[in-house]
This record gives sequence, C-alpha cells and structure tokens, in this order.
Amino acid sequence: MRKFTSNTLLVATHNQGKLEEISALLTSFGIKTVSSKDHDLPEPEETGTTFVDNARIKAHAAAKATGLPALADDSGIEIDALGNAPGVYTADWAETPNGRDFVMAMQRAHNELEALKAPHPRLARFCCTLALAWPDGHDEIFEGVMAGQVVWPMRGDQGHGYDPIFQPEGYDITFGEMDRWEKNKISHRADAFVKLVSLFEQA
Ligand code: IMP
Repeated sequence: MRKFTSNTLLVATHNQGKLEEISALLTSFGIKTVSSKDHDLPEPEETGTTFVDNARIKAHAAAKATGLPALADDSGIEIDALGNAPGVYTADWAETPNGRDFVMAMQRAHNELEALKAPHPRLARFCCTLALAWPDGHDEIFEGVMAGQVVWPMRGDQGHGYDPIFQPEGYDITFGEMDRWEKNKISHRADAFVKLVSLFEQA
C-alpha cells in the first residue's frame, strides 16, 4: 500500500458537510485539506456501476485536474431482496424535478419489498467507499459497511437519506432515531475512515 507523504489533500466533494467531516478528521494528522470548490472543479458524471468505480472517477478527475492527491467517496444502501438495489443509484431513487425526495425513495424501497413479499428481516447494508488517487494514476481504496435491516414504517427524524428505514445490526432503533454522534461512531463511513487513517498513521 502506498504511503501518504504529502501535506495537502484535495477532498473531491461539493458537499460542505462531507468536507467539514473529512477535514476535521485529517487535521488531527497534520494534513491540510482543500476542496473541489477552492479549485473550481466541475462535478464529474458518476457513470460507474459500483461504489468503487464512482469513487475512483471522482478522485482521479480531481487529482488529474489539480496535481494534488485527492480523496472521494461514494455511498449508498444495498437491499438483499432487491438484488442489492438501489446500490449506486441510492441518490437517484430520490431525484424529482424539484430536488431530492427521500420519503419517496424509502416508499419505493418498501413498495418493491412488499410486491416481492420479501421475508423479514429484510437484510440490507449501507456501504461507503473511499478512493484516494494520486496525480500519477495510482489509487488506494477503502471500503466500509454497516449491516442491518430495512424496516417499515419510517422511524425517527435524525440523520438524512434512508436513515429512518435502516435499523443497524445489534440495535432496536433506526439510524433516524439514533443520536448523530452514536451513528458516526458505528457507521459505514466510520468503518471506511478507520481504514483510511491507517494509511496516514503508517506515513
Ligand atoms: P453519494 O455518496 O453522495 O453519491 O450519496 C449516496 C446516497 O446514499 C445519499 O444521497 C444518501 O441517500 C444515501 N446514504 C449514504 N449514506 C447514508 C447514511 O448514512 N444514511 C442515510 N442515507 C445514506
């Protein structure tokens, strides 16, 4: 695995929340972060069919454009009984002409499970893939997972996206009912970041 020896990392996201979360984590390792916005980078089209493909597309585009090592992430939910859908199309299921509607997306997931008479528990997992790409084309991939089940009706108003219908393994509450701090400790994103951080600790 290639060591990370640079002192600046470009975080390839246009999402301010993600940027702040990632920057806070890396600052503790003495790594300065800059964002896609600072470099006025366009958002590349996510044409991949896996989380790894899409994270790679975003990280390599940013590294190539700036000459800096770049970190990108891609995430979503896979539901077993739906053949792992929505997967990389997790955000797409929420698209409407007026912006994203996650209640509609969660309803769709539930309707499809009902139509299939899928047995309970309806197993699912949140996935997060981080790609760290260097300007010379090398990359390292870190994958995080949180296993659980899809429940209905929606419960809780914390979090975002599909949180109200996802009950993580070992808990009787959904991510939507879970304290944000607690969720951030156990989530798929935390799992991927722990693996990424091991790269900085080795450097
Ligand atoms: P992207 O990684 O920005 O492409 O977004 C993936 C989509 O997955 C998000 O829009 C959310 O709908 C969903 N997602 C990813 N992580 C979570 C999570 O922790 N809770 C709820 N939804 C999530």
